[in-house]
Amino acid sequence: MRILVVEDEPKIAGFLAKGLREEGHSVEVAGDALGARTALALAHPDLMVVDRMLPDGDGLALIRELRRAGSRIPALCLTARERVEERVEGLLGGADDYLVKPFSFDELLARIAAIARRSGTGAERDRIVVADLEIDVAAHRASRGGEEIPLTAREFALLRYLAENAGRVLSRTRILEHVWDMRFDPGTNTVDVYVSYLRAKVDRGRERPLLHTVRGVGYVLEDRGR
Ligand code: CA
Repeated sequence: MRILVVEDEPKIAGFLAKGLREEGHSVEVAGDALGARTALALAHPDLMVVDRMLPDGDGLALIRELRRAGSRIPALCLTARERVEERVEGLLGGADDYLVKPFSFDELLARIAAIARRSGTGAERDRIVVADLEIDVAAHRASRGGEEIPLTAREFALLRYLAENAGRVLSRTRILEHVWDMRFDPGTNTVDVYVSYLRAKVDRGRERPLLHTVRGVGYVLEDRGR
């Protein structure tokens, strides 16, 4: 998963980032709420770990702000405070779970896994549904309206990546990095070609297209109605 750690204490932030990377997650660290907003906009993390006491405000206020704006990103709140009523406040405030410092790294991992499972995000997700599109990640199968869509391995990887990020515009660079593992632009229109293959299989002849081009930016998979 891509995890955003919002924590201003460098020692704790470093410990979390190192530990989570060792578990195979990709980690961004933000030292305050302002940095967190930027990272959320640019990195599209799957989950966030947020300290309550940030230099520019309460981490919980940040989570509330995100919820008001419609974000459902799973959030684990960290706090040094131990009063029970604040835990309740934390959960009411839109955080998915609450962990009191000092905590063990194992406990943090267990909480993250539980939140991810409940919210069906990242690595824990084995089935993705967008409108009538269903992707069975384990079986490498996709269908629309119950009708199976035959896909090559690369097409499947591309569709899965777009569906995992449904509603988010993905640039060609990010798609190349993720689906082709290319960290440079090969100067070809590989992504566009594969999106056109997918369109032919996923959208052609259907009332509600799911694959959309965002001019000058990239692609997004979403249900925009008819
Ligand atoms: Ca802090």
